[in-house]
Amino acid sequence: MTPSTESAMLVDFHCHLDLFPDMDAAIAAAESAGVLSLTVTTTPRAWPRNRDLASRTRNVKSGLGLHPQLVAERASELGLWEQFLPEARFVGEVGLDGGPHYYQSMPEQLRVFERILVKCANAGGKILTVHSYRAASKVLDLIENYLPPERGRVVLHWFTGSKSEAQRAIGLGCYFSVNSEMLRSERSQEIIRLLPFDKLLTETDAPFIEVQGKPSRPADVQSAVDSLAALLGRTSSEVRDLVYQNAKTLIS
Ligand code: MN
Repeated sequence: MTPSTESAMLVDFHCHLDLFPDMDAAIAAAESAGVLSLTVTTTPRAWPRNRDLASRTRNVKSGLGLHPQLVAERASELGLWEQFLPEARFVGEVGLDGGPHYYQSMPEQLRVFERILVKCANAGGKILTVHSYRAASKVLDLIENYLPPERGRVVLHWFTGSKSEAQRAIGLGCYFSVNSEMLRSERSQEIIRLLPFDKLLTETDAPFIEVQGKPSRPADVQSAVDSLAALLGRTSSEVRDLVYQNAKTLIS
């Protein structure tokens, strides 16, 4: 890890600022805390407001999403997602969820995610933040078939797949955004140790993960940086530099 000359910002590459009771305040807080934040949407209907608020900031980017857990009710919004795609550099939250509550909609989820990947590949230059809970192999199959690395980049958000699935994702050039909850899990720690340093990012998934009994905010990503540093035997500032450089490389 080489120290950067420019001072590194904290990076929260997956949060949901539009799910906070006061979205304007949540975006303003991320902006003034100086956290490079990617706020994702779960439905394309939320895009215009997210896009507009994020465009007035330096540090907050917004993603155009269609969350796999919502596909059962909102697959009809895929057309709207496609309509907005030319405006979006970042795409997410998208992906597949194979958990017991959502497994029934898997055929529809597969159809939607395939379409999203094809559209991103056609457009080129998109950066995707991807949900793969209990569906890592299927997610990787679709990425391999429809989104070659030179047509778009994938960040696996809160990856919970196996070691062999992690190896496969590494081979496909995926990035991984890790959060404080993952870093508490021994199983996830083993996976994180396998990941190439240049593919590591951090996230909060705010407001979903609690920090000290409260819903997390982007600035709480510091705790993921600290835990990651402890796991990798590095200092927090080395990890902060590394993650910021990785984010800059990915975005530029
Ligand atoms: Mn999320």
